Amino acid sequence: MIFEKSNKLANVCYDIRGPVLEHAKRLEEEGQRILKLNIGNPATFGFEAPVEMLQDMIKNLPLAQGYCDSKGLFSARKAVMQYYQQNLVEGVTVEDIYIGNGVSELIVMSLQALLNNGDEVLIPAPDYPLWTAATTLSGGRAVHYLCDEQANWFPDVNDIKSKITKNTKAILLINPNNPTGAVYSKELLLEIIEVARQHNLVIFSDEIYDKILYDDAKHTIAASLANDVVFITFGGLSKVYRSAGFRSGWLVISGNKNAAKGYIEGINMLSNMRLCANVPAQNAIQTALGGYQTIQDLVKPGGRLYEQREITWQMLNAIPGVSCVKPMGALYAFPKLDPKVYPIRNDEKLVLDFLLQEKILVVQGTAFNWIHPDHLRIVTLPRVDDLEEAIKRLEKFLKSYKQK
Ligand code: PLP
Repeated sequence: MIFEKSNKLANVCYDIRGPVLEHAKRLEEEGQRILKLNIGNPATFGFEAPVEMLQDMIKNLPLAQGYCDSKGLFSARKAVMQYYQQNLVEGVTVEDIYIGNGVSELIVMSLQALLNNGDEVLIPAPDYPLWTAATTLSGGRAVHYLCDEQANWFPDVNDIKSKITKNTKAILLINPNNPTGAVYSKELLLEIIEVARQHNLVIFSDEIYDKILYDDAKHTIAASLANDVVFITFGGLSKVYRSAGFRSGWLVISGNKNAAKGYIEGINMLSNMRLCANVPAQNAIQTALGGYQTIQDLVKPGGRLYEQREITWQMLNAIPGVSCVKPMGALYAFPKLDPKVYPIRNDEKLVLDFLLQEKILVVQGTAFNWIHPDHLRIVTLPRVDDLEEAIKRLEKFLKSYKQK
């Protein structure tokens, strides 16, 4: 008897941790040093969670041995509720907050609870690919709308409109965006909300990087701009609070909750079925959201994240045939390799060749459902010295790279 993977996985892709990473692991096992610029995991680059969060988790550990309410600890949910209320999201109660094992679990839950086979979700291209994968896994169809590199990677609203069909159920915003670093203006969000209003779409807003903002970028919570549309907003501890390993995130339902009664029943059922999220990490949520936000020191000039974003962006743009829109938020750069200068047909092969030759691991743009094999995603978490080394090696590599 041979066991195959389920048919449900036939079109599910998540290539950030795909075959090239397996090669990198093999090289490491052989004793080679690989500079990994592939995953947005702050702790592995020396970023630490605020000490107060750790202290509160440790202090409360003895009390965190049992399951909690399936939606999460009351204190954590109340802190999330207050955060969104203070940031002008109307009508949020503690019942509208769900704590999950990272935003990842909540993304899967929110799609599983909504989609029937063949329902369509409008997802940005490029995207954080879990959204596309989880839509497909849920029986839905991911329909990608274009983000426009010429317009600071803002979504192309006309493209969004042209892709709405009778099967469209929801639209996703990732803001600040992974992988492009775009931070959307209030005007753009209002335009997209109007489209959702007219076509009766749920708005998913993945805002996990909401406080990782550079220069004068301002983040607007989409759900703060309307109360007559169904919003599902996502946030968590992994990035802003540098604790991806704690696996803790939240989902907030707001807006026209009356229209979403059945959907909310579905979310409740899935939330009950997984019993509850990791409890110790929930004790850090109130501490994380309250008090001084240490992330601010990292994103201002002189701060590590700011300086690393700066050097990455400058050095990439200095490579002939490479251009990179300045990331205004999040932890990534998404440079373009001009196809006239670098005629690449297979960007996964490019990334593998770069790994084998220069021992540097980045991710190909098509892993983010980008439509052409002409982009790379580089994580801006390593220290400046490592980023400089990596980008110098990229320049050297590209100079002689010819894809057959
Ligand atoms: N959403 C986006 C846009 C992300 O970039 C990531 C992780 O990289 C996640 C969600 C998953 O986050 P979590 O660690 O909370 O599962």
